[in-house]
Amino acid sequence: MYRTVPQLDSVTSLLATWFPQLCTRTRLPERSVQGRPVFALRLRAGEGGNRRGVLFVGGTHARELMNPDALVEFSVDLVVSYLTGTDIVYGGRTWKAEDVKLVLESLDLWFVPCSNPDGRTKVLTVDNMWRKNLRDNPGTPCDGVDLNRNADILWGVTEGQTSCSPCTDIYVGADRFSEPETRNVKHLLDTETIHTFADVHSFSELVLYPWGHAHNQTSDPAQRFTGLPTGTCEPIGIPGYEEYITPQDLLRFTTVAQRLVDAIAAVRGSAYTPQTGRALYATTGTQGDYVYSRHIADPALGKTYGFTIETGPRVGSVEDSFHPPDPTLIKLDTKAGLLALAQQSICAFDLIGLKLLTSRIEVDALRRVRDDVLASTEAGREWITLVERVELPVASLVFTDEGLAARAATLIEHAGKLFEDEKSVVADEDVDLGRALLAELAERAGAEDAQVRTDLEAVGAALEQARGVPSADVLKQLVSRGPLRN
Ligand SMILES: [Zn+2]
Repeated sequence: MYRTVPQLDSVTSLLATWFPQLCTRTRLPERSVQGRPVFALRLRAGEGGNRRGVLFVGGTHARELMNPDALVEFSVDLVVSYLTGTDIVYGGRTWKAEDVKLVLESLDLWFVPCSNPDGRTKVLTVDNMWRKNLRDNPGTPCDGVDLNRNADILWGVTEGQTSCSPCTDIYVGADRFSEPETRNVKHLLDTETIHTFADVHSFSELVLYPWGHAHNQTSDPAQRFTGLPTGTCEPIGIPGYEEYITPQDLLRFTTVAQRLVDAIAAVRGSAYTPQTGRALYATTGTQGDYVYSRHIADPALGKTYGFTIETGPRVGSVEDSFHPPDPTLIKLDTKAGLLALAQQSICAFDLIGLKLLTSRIEVDALRRVRDDVLASTEAGREWITLVERVELPVASLVFTDEGLAARAATLIEHAGKLFEDEKSVVADEDVDLGRALLAELAERAGAEDAQVRTDLEAVGAALEQARGVPSADVLKQLVSRGPLRN
């Protein structure tokens, strides 16, 4: 029913051997505590590097047996769909072959299906409720570190479900990243451009996002984890402490989490709940929070959106919930959520810019408009959300039609130049070009999705209002009035 560690490894090995044009398998730098190799599989199709990476990790907690199987099966599904041009069907949710192609040709998908091979081996042989790795903790009769408490985010702060006692199931380890299994995950973050991360756990049908150690607040940027002591083996200890998150990142997390939940619900009606980690219970040192904390602790690092997915409902006993006799349907839910997450990592502007523009200057200018200007107000953030809603359907159209792609590229180039110089004025011909393109996109993408049509029409209306207006004033309009109020 569940694959052994060698069986999981053989799936990734076969994929890399049979389909080297799509699949690359790497042995991560560190062996597990007991000396087992740990593998990562990368899926990438088509030309060009310098892509956004999505990293899926499974098996962090040993007894959560379903997810390593789901991850290797998901990688096989993607490869089969790409090579045979067939749709992916998970219950009531279908992804067209072209949409899978877009995912594989625009992203790097990284899989570490089994990050804790020692633990899994123990679960499958002698102790089906083992959670941690197999670290021998000196001076104690108890083995194991909780690999989801060992990362460098408030490590050793014993808030909530986090402990400095080696005999607990939630032991933080001797130091931050003391374990080879967690250092392997960190290695991928250090060496690859990981835009989105999902640590896949069980059970309880949740999609968790930061923060885990405290409730979120969006008003006081000074109240951040970077100002707190770590390694104390004490709770945070500040009454009412809440962790800062920027409004635009919080919006991104909630929007993307909702997309996962919607995709999963479409499979067979499972109702996953999107929420912060803290809303479940307080934790520190988790991988999902760590990946997102990196760019705050060190502004030189890129931002990674970190999620923790808790798959499967509680069914009968706790044992059965961690490893149900037949996890087939739960794995369908999981794979649907992961594919939706990968899709959400596609940036249409990046794609068009990379494929069709000779320089990245214009795309970078637009990104600054988004991150520095639009993100600063609620109305501006409504525009960002709108763009995130439409960019996937638009990208899939644009990438099956070279004429549309060329027109979109021209507009991005002009828009980028426009916002580079705040005195430049929106030209009539750009408004006409843009409105014609938006109308065509609304007709084609809107045929399947009424929301997309409404959104594209809102962009068209805003564009009309921008005719002849200096770019600085266009931005003022966008940050003061969202798409819904037009
Ligand atoms: Zn877990």
